[in-house]
Formats: sequence, structure tokens, C-alpha cells
Amino acid sequence: MSFESLGLAPALLRALAEQGYSEPTPIQAGAIPVVLEGHDLLAAAQTGTGKTAAFSLPLLQRMSGSAPSGTRRPRALILTPTRELAAQIHDNLRDYGKHLRVSSAVIFGGVSMGPQMQALRRGVDIVIATPGRLVDHMQQRTIDLSGIEVLVLDEADRMLDMGFLPPLKRIVGALPKRRQTLLFSATFAPEIKSLAMQFMQSPREVSV
Ligand code: AMP
Repeated sequence: MSFESLGLAPALLRALAEQGYSEPTPIQAGAIPVVLEGHDLLAAAQTGTGKTAAFSLPLLQRMSGSAPSGTRRPRALILTPTRELAAQIHDNLRDYGKHLRVSSAVIFGGVSMGPQMQALRRGVDIVIATPGRLVDHMQQRTIDLSGIEVLVLDEADRMLDMGFLPPLKRIVGALPKRRQTLLFSATFAPEIKSLAMQFMQSPREVSV
């Protein structure tokens, strides 16, 4: 199995080679073609399996296509439980997307809102956020979620464990109904299945 055979664009293949990745991990091999086809995805994968690249690579590929004209609204939203994970996803997106023109901003609590607001005002394609701080931005109307085409729920089981169900519902309620949703979780516990029923449409399932 090679990254080429998964249907990734040359600019991404080049970045992967520079990262020293020689072949996809099982979650990448399973998830990337499904996401590139535009399906919703319910994926069971632990940290360390390469799950971040499994959603980031097809997401970057989609974002590198032309945006709807005249818009500077974010087109993709990645929700993750902690600031450390948010920062790590941001770093990975920059590494994988270094040969593409796709911009991203990271939003988490515990730091001032100002620089995050400025980044959002400048316009970004991808927002990586923790749920609580994203709701703060929604309340202050400093983020416009009406252009979101893809939603990623990273470590969904941990977000539920941390009590983020209310902000998650509020955020998802503010997103366009027509979108692609990708949910990653260590397990498919009943609460995760229920979240998938509420937030997704006929998801394909991949587990490793
Ligand atoms: P993650 O599960 O997303 O936290 O990734 C775990 C680690 O594996 C990270 O350090 C990635 O940079 C690395 N990684 C992800 N995919 C690959 C790959 N296909 N080949 C080699 N390393 C990878």
C-alpha cells in the first residue's frame, strides 16, 4: 500500500516524503479514500495510530480546491478536547500542507481572545478549536460558522468524558446541515454511536 494509491495530490505526497513517511498506517489506508469520496466517517483509532494524518490529509486536499467565490469564512472545523491536541493538529496541518495554499488558525482557552479574533478576521480555511473557547467566540460573534463544509470530531470519547456534550451540540447546531462529518474515537461506545446518529449521515465505519 502506498500514499499514491490512496488518491492524494502530488503536493501532499511531496510533503509526506519530506516528513519521512514511507507508507500509510492502517487507519490512514482505511480512512483516506472514504473521506476523499466525500462520505461521513466513523473511525475507531487510538492516539499513536496516525489518526491525525488520516483526517488532515484528505481535508487539506479538499481545502486546496477553490473556495466559494468571495468568501473568507472558515471551510473546515476540527474540534479536539485539549489545547495540546489542538496545537499538535495545527503543527501537523502546517507540515502536511506546506506545499499548498491552505491556512489554519487554532483556538483554545486559557489565553487571551484578541490574537485569535485577529486571525479569524484575516480569514482562514481551517479552524482547530477546543469546544469551550469556540462557544465563547460564537457568543461574541467573532466566528462565522456558516461556511463550514467539513467537521472533524477528534477524540470524541474524551470530549464526552470531559463534559463537552452541551457545547458540541450547540456548535453542531450552528453548522450547515449539508457538510461532511468525520468522527474519531478510541472506542465505539454507545454514547459515541448516539453522537454519530445525531451528527452524521450514513457514516462509513473504519476501525483499527
Ligand atoms: P497520531 O496518532 O496522529 O497522534 O500520530 C502518531 C505519530 O505517528 C505522529 O508522530 C505522526 O507524525 C506519526 N505518523 C503518522 N502517520 C505516519 C506514517 N504514515 N508514517 C510514519 N509516521 C507517521
